[in-house]
Amino acid sequence: MDDMGGTRRCPCCGGGKAKVYDSRVRDSMGTIWRRRKCPACSHTWSTYEIGAAEYERIEAMSAAIERLRLALDTTSPVSP
Ligand SMILES: [Zn+2]
Repeated sequence: MDDMGGTRRCPCCGGGKAKVYDSRVRDSMGTIWRRRKCPACSHTWSTYEIGAAEYERIEAMSAAIERLRLALDTTSPVSP
């Protein structure tokens, strides 16, 4: 298993042996941009990988949005 580095299946042919041939860190949050190429069909595409800090930020944000959504969904008046 060499999936630890983020091996992605080819979106074109479904092959799982795509190689990363270019990558760079995009920002201080640890977001990584990778350029991948499928050796089977030569399809190329790019992926973004977010760092742990960015992931936590997004998690916190979606939790806040969910709370807001639940609050807006409440049709009955809030009792004290
Ligand atoms: Zn492919």
